[in-house]
Amino acid sequence: MTALLEVKDLVVAYGKIVAVKGISFIVGEGEVVTLIGTNGAGKTTTLRTISGLLRPAGGSVLYRGEDISATPAHQIVGLGLAHSPEGRRIFPRMSVEENLLLGAYGRRDNDIDRDLKAAYELFPILGERSRQHAGTFSGGEQQMLAMGRAMMSRPKLLMLDEPSMGLSPLMMKRIMSTVTTLREQGTTILLVEQNARAALKIADKGYVLEVGQIVTEGTGQELLHSDEVRKAYLGED
Ligand code: ATP
Repeated sequence: MTALLEVKDLVVAYGKIVAVKGISFIVGEGEVVTLIGTNGAGKTTTLRTISGLLRPAGGSVLYRGEDISATPAHQIVGLGLAHSPEGRRIFPRMSVEENLLLGAYGRRDNDIDRDLKAAYELFPILGERSRQHAGTFSGGEQQMLAMGRAMMSRPKLLMLDEPSMGLSPLMMKRIMSTVTTLREQGTTILLVEQNARAALKIADKGYVLEVGQIVTEGTGQELLHSDEVRKAYLGED
């Protein structure tokens, strides 16, 4: 396995609050890797740091072997890392298509129409409603739009922050199966989830975060069947 992303001894602080306390993990090319853990464990902080939106207080982020921990966020997108943020952050007064095109901002090639088509193939509802204001969409549709928008930068590594948040079980299944499809199409995925069961089912590897530290790691199947994880994160006795 070739490491696409390697996070080493990462420390991230908000002033005096240390939210991430020296975590290390690897995302191999072609894998789905999940970070699970309860509210406040440091998952979002980790993704925002990889994206260049926060700067680490210690440690490093290596992408294809190169340290990107001081690289500006817009350049990181250009390297092939896309981030679909917590809460989706779509632009409600803009059309679906305009939201998608924002994901291609900064690209200088002529293949954008082809990628719009690919986004519409992945999520047909986006194509059917391409001119509609994104604010009229349901939570699940907005999640599809956020993922479609992230894919418009043609990422090698797609980072998804809590894609299942607030969704019906059916919609959640749909989103998770799309993650698997994207992986089959060649995109590597780093998935942050509070819904540990859904994430572990589709993940090659998982890391469990608790108050800024990795406490357990293993394959998705190992973690799904670990007593410790089942008790703490899967709601079983
Ligand atoms: P959630 O699911 O709630 O997003 P999380 O695992 O993603 O949880 P983070 O959002 O990364 O966790 O938060 C980690 C810690 O950092 C928490 O203690 C949180 O209160 C703190 N924190 C997050 N953002 C800030 C901020 N902007 N300023 C100060 N502290 C923050």
